[in-house]
Amino acid sequence: MAELNFDVYKNVVDGQLKGATKEYYGINPFTEEKLWPAPTATKEDLDEAVKAASVAFKTWQHTTVEERRRRVKDFSDALMAQKTAWVPIISKETGQPEELAETEIDAACEWLMGISTIDLPEYTTHEDDEVKVTTKYYPLGVVAAICPWNFPIMLAAGKIASAVSTGNTIIVKPSPYTPYTGLKLVELAQQFFPPGVVQALGGDDNLGPWMTRHPDIAKISFTGSSATGKKIMAAAAPTLKRVTLELGGNDAAIVCPDVDIDTIAPQIADDGNLSMPLKDQNLRLIDSNTAFSHAAQVCVAPKRIYVHASVYDKFMEKFTEECRKLVPGKRFLSPIQNKMQYEKVKSIFDDCQSQTYEFALGTPNLKKETPGYFVPPAIVANPPEHSRVVQDEPFGPIVPVLKWEDEEDVIRRANDTDQGLGATVWCRNSAQAERIALRLEAGSVWVNRGVAPLPTALFGGVKQSGIGGEWGPLGLLNYCSARTFHFAKNV
Ligand code: NAD
Repeated sequence: MAELNFDVYKNVVDGQLKGATKEYYGINPFTEEKLWPAPTATKEDLDEAVKAASVAFKTWQHTTVEERRRRVKDFSDALMAQKTAWVPIISKETGQPEELAETEIDAACEWLMGISTIDLPEYTTHEDDEVKVTTKYYPLGVVAAICPWNFPIMLAAGKIASAVSTGNTIIVKPSPYTPYTGLKLVELAQQFFPPGVVQALGGDDNLGPWMTRHPDIAKISFTGSSATGKKIMAAAAPTLKRVTLELGGNDAAIVCPDVDIDTIAPQIADDGNLSMPLKDQNLRLIDSNTAFSHAAQVCVAPKRIYVHASVYDKFMEKFTEECRKLVPGKRFLSPIQNKMQYEKVKSIFDDCQSQTYEFALGTPNLKKETPGYFVPPAIVANPPEHSRVVQDEPFGPIVPVLKWEDEEDVIRRANDTDQGLGATVWCRNSAQAERIALRLEAGSVWVNRGVAPLPTALFGGVKQSGIGGEWGPLGLLNYCSARTFHFAKNV
């Protein structure tokens, strides 16, 4: 297997590495130092990649499912075999401490394997003596994957697995903040897929809009903010591209009075149980999406914690005790990934300070005295429901813990947002747990377990947290068009 050079990052077009005339540098969030040169693709680079993807699609769409699975498996095995080389690169580009970066590689491999082994359905919806009516699924063509900066390799891997295992070709666009592992992942993919099937372009703020308007791209698989998702949907309209939009969330966690606080407060804070085997499946559950993991730069992290008033004080005591152990830049608590996001997070701290909200942990007065976008974890004690820290998605390590008394009221408050990505319910009484869970307006709800998406389960948002969804059998269908065949009998 050809060695990868982790000091050089290039676009990957039609099976070749392609340099760019214009380059820029990503920034290491731990040190604010420049990383390696990264390519800025031009419109011509995009046209060339789309042409290669369209040519490759002609053949790739007719390959067998077995062949596609074998190639994805070899790709995944190669990534896993090189894990130790990738971990420091992910860490430097995202700010994930190495322990966390390792779990992102695990997740990327789990997602490649988990998604590519799902069978597409085929439905016979009507059959009588005269006719048999069957719906089958077909690939769309060229997919553009527009990725965010929080999990650059795992989210790209999920999109690649979904596209290629359904017979599509794909062009990956990593976030300009984290271009490196996305480009390198696709460089590695060249050893396992024919030219043009999996390509990657790094770029500036022009590249995403060019992709969304390109007439020969059939689908945009986007993960990022709700604001950008709306622009993508508008830009895709003139060419009627399919869009899957995985957007932001402001996820509620509801803690009921009957739980064992000593057990569940650490699980919401950071239980350190990063991966555990999942019974009867060849998958491990990546369970690192606690309130402060990756400095809360996790779309489905618990972002508003509603605790029943009767156990509120006990919860706060245990939760703050656990969170006090977290050190920015160590174990699972990253620095903030970039300056723009640091300023956004700081503005929420500033707002808390001006409103004189009580901090159970940390301080509202963020001071940046050394290089690196470090933010110590902060817990805001029972701020008003209308406060920014409750209403906005901070995407940073500050979490409000609110009191509730009435079940109807807490459900209303949890749902009182235009977003609906994830939610968690902690409750021993299983009837009550189910009653609450089924009424939460969120795409994924975890009951008595931490936030832990799976490649085999649909993941997506309701309301303004997204359209469509990725992963699992239903996620795969979003990479396909359905065609219905009416076959006459007795001819
Ligand atoms: P972002 O929307 O700023 O950027 C995401 C990507 O979109 C980047 O690659 C960017 O270059 C590109 N982009 C920006 N403007 C574009 C345009 N007009 N047209 C096309 N592409 C464009 O998001 P971010 O800051 O990178 O990520 C953080 C957000 O992503 C948070 O809100 C988080 O909740 C969300 N997120 C959601 C999920 C999910 O699965 N639902 C997962 C991770 C992150």
